[in-house]
Amino acid sequence: MRVLVTGGAGFIGSAVVRTIIEETNFEILNVDCLTYAGNPDSLARIAGSDRYSFSRTDIRDLPALRRAVEEFRPDLIMHLAAETHVDRSIDGPADFVMTNMVGTANLLEATRAYWTGLDDAAKRRFRLHHVSTDEVFGSLGPSGQFSETTPYAPNSPYSASKAGSDHLVRAWHETFGLPVITSNCSNNYGPCQFPEKLIPLIILNALEGKKLPIYGTGKNIRDWLHVEDHARALIAIATRGQPGETYCVGGNEERTNIDVVLTVCSILDELLPQSQNRPHANLITYVADRPGHDARYAIDASKIERELGWRPQETFESGIKKTVQWYLDNRSWWERVRAGAYRGERLGLAGAG
Ligand code: NAD
Repeated sequence: MRVLVTGGAGFIGSAVVRTIIEETNFEILNVDCLTYAGNPDSLARIAGSDRYSFSRTDIRDLPALRRAVEEFRPDLIMHLAAETHVDRSIDGPADFVMTNMVGTANLLEATRAYWTGLDDAAKRRFRLHHVSTDEVFGSLGPSGQFSETTPYAPNSPYSASKAGSDHLVRAWHETFGLPVITSNCSNNYGPCQFPEKLIPLIILNALEGKKLPIYGTGKNIRDWLHVEDHARALIAIATRGQPGETYCVGGNEERTNIDVVLTVCSILDELLPQSQNRPHANLITYVADRPGHDARYAIDASKIERELGWRPQETFESGIKKTVQWYLDNRSWWERVRAGAYRGERLGLAGAG
């Protein structure tokens, strides 16, 4: 099987690429333009495989994307390339509209042109899997969970641009018959996550003795899933899911942000008994909330469990321990990232900061 992965140098994309190369015999073309969030170091383990190739292509560039698709001739496309950080979408929404919506429309058009030219058997086998987020559903109150039938109600420029891309993907199925599948997943954590996101930001700031910023009251709830469990779910969906269907993916591990941060602090206290920064929880500082901050996300993942037999292998407790250990063991990965354009500063206050 020939798999074209977009965004394969990102956090989740690199986990998908590593898992496919190490656990299947599939061939991969990774299409990624390497924004600040794309990092070839995350692929070092598999970059030498003769089943792996890389194309530095921007999905906003339709002719270049068409060439990549036509030349590689994939059986499956897994679409992960996106602008992904909510705070950055508040500071600069235009990039989110261009990559997430226009880029996805480009991919759909490049794919449709290629798919239309396939013979009947190849056409029937072909899939385009669009990877999306549970944030398209908006915010939950204290009870209930998102599922495949939850109405869309995105609140941030990021989630609105992802919702727009989900609708485009759906329309290319309904209108043109393109065999697409969409998945909507909850918050991921794990190795190789860019340290602007909560968990790696907290780990690295704590290691450096910097403040640990908690937005608002810290009571916002997210449903956490280890990235390798998500990668396995994505491979199951892409290879065994039903075209035209959507699948919700989540860890059933709801935690408030402050609980997540306290957990990371106590793991660091335990792993680093000599640290001058102990107890790391003393570094916690409450800062202005994110504008439009969604209160709670939670996923009902029973459809993917029932239909595809997928279940997470990590609990939050096991996954977060491994994750903290990974950042301790892989200083060179994050020191190179921190030496670049982003050093942990506050983003996304919509001019109010
Ligand atoms: P990420 O920001 O870590 O990586 C995004 C990747 O896309 C980077 O390698 C970047 O270089 C590439 N990219 C961005 N714009 C591009 C463009 N115009 N052309 C080509 N490549 C481009 O993102 P992530 O956290 O790995 O998320 C991957 C996907 O999963 C996204 O679609 C995101 O919406 C979705 N998702 C993420 C989470 C999460 O918790 N991180 C949860 C659910 C869904």
